[in-house]
Amino acid sequence: MSLIVQKYGGTSVGSVERIEAVAEKVAACRGRGDDIVVVVSAMSGETNRLLGLADGITETPTPREIDVLVSTGEQVTIALLSMALNKIGCEARSYTGAQVRILTDDSHTKARIEEIDVERMQADLKLGRVLVVAGFQGVDSKGNITTLGRGGSDTSAVALAAALKADECQIYTDVDGVYTTDPRVVEGARRLEKITFEEMLEMSSQGSKVLQIRAVEFAGKYKVPLRVLSSFKDGPGTLITLEDDDSMEKPIISGIAFNRDEAKLTIQGIPDTPGVASRILAPIGEANVEVDVIIQNVSEDGTTSLTFTVHRNDLNRARGLLEGIALQLKARSVVTDDQIAKVSLVGVGMRSHAGVASRMFTALAEHNINIQMITTSEIKIAVVIDEKYLELAVRALHSAFELESEAK
Ligand code: ASP
Ligand code: MG
Repeated sequence: MSLIVQKYGGTSVGSVERIEAVAEKVAACRGRGDDIVVVVSAMSGETNRLLGLADGITETPTPREIDVLVSTGEQVTIALLSMALNKIGCEARSYTGAQVRILTDDSHTKARIEEIDVERMQADLKLGRVLVVAGFQGVDSKGNITTLGRGGSDTSAVALAAALKADECQIYTDVDGVYTTDPRVVEGARRLEKITFEEMLEMSSQGSKVLQIRAVEFAGKYKVPLRVLSSFKDGPGTLITLEDDDSMEKPIISGIAFNRDEAKLTIQGIPDTPGVASRILAPIGEANVEVDVIIQNVSEDGTTSLTFTVHRNDLNRARGLLEGIALQLKARSVVTDDQIAKVSLVGVGMRSHAGVASRMFTALAEHNINIQMITTSEIKIAVVIDEKYLELAVRALHSAFELESEAK
């Protein structure tokens, strides 16, 4: 008998019929003897609908009231799902975040979980009940309702699994697992049986949106085995877990992630002297603009250029700041480009294999794709390219690294 935490996202509980289908699934697992804690999101579209209502009243609602408002979405689903379970003879009880006591800090709309009381839940589990807990929400030490940030139900589920020492945390969603890359771009993309926490983090931060990044971090930190599966069709999904020791088995590359959310800024003709990079990037960081890839050129005639990428939404702000800095440094010019995309190869097998980068660059060269920037980590190589070649690049790399086939 195991203890399983199951999380169902917004589309999985998007209608009364779907909630009833989830109830059947939960009851079947319970029937096999497992203890089950279910975490649910709001019905799909509901959180946005609620935020829209607030928008109709004021552009500047206080974050406290936003949390009171949006937390109602999940409260609806826990009640409906518990009713559906009870109706089919599977005893269930709903709990809001505050009732469980998922204690968070007081940063409304982006709160962090500090502690979870497990006693009440454990008492219910002992009585054979299924627990249905509202995702995305908690309570601060003063009793105010808080929420964890968009997509936060994944984090709620993982945190509950960690606190209850569950055997597995299963995230049911509208895809049946984590794929080698987006199947909408590469038809032959393959579902992965297994991926490590580290790889999943890289995949998520590089733009693969299956799970909330914080949830993966949390699961890795507390070593909670995480499984992504479909709520609509049966299958084993993808297990996200610790790296095994048998390095022989590891594929070199697990997946290819990409994103189109970035933009590139270059400041040219800056003095090549100590402190320049910091004079350029410090004000950008202070303005809370996150910088991703950075390159600095070799100097020519004592001057150099620095190029970096930021989120596309931050481009205008970053450009404004950079133009100010350019004046101070007497730089020659500032140029920006928002027609870029980043493609990343991810795989723990890279650690023990040489030549991955050259194989990547050769594949891109064969398709005449120019590389604008390169960045690497132990388990990732990412390149920035012209956005119009993105799909071509992903397909070329998927085939160059033979990701369609099961062969390692
Ligand atoms: N309902 C919240 C959202 O839409 C939390 C979640 O779905 O995970 O962001
Ligand atoms: Mg979600």
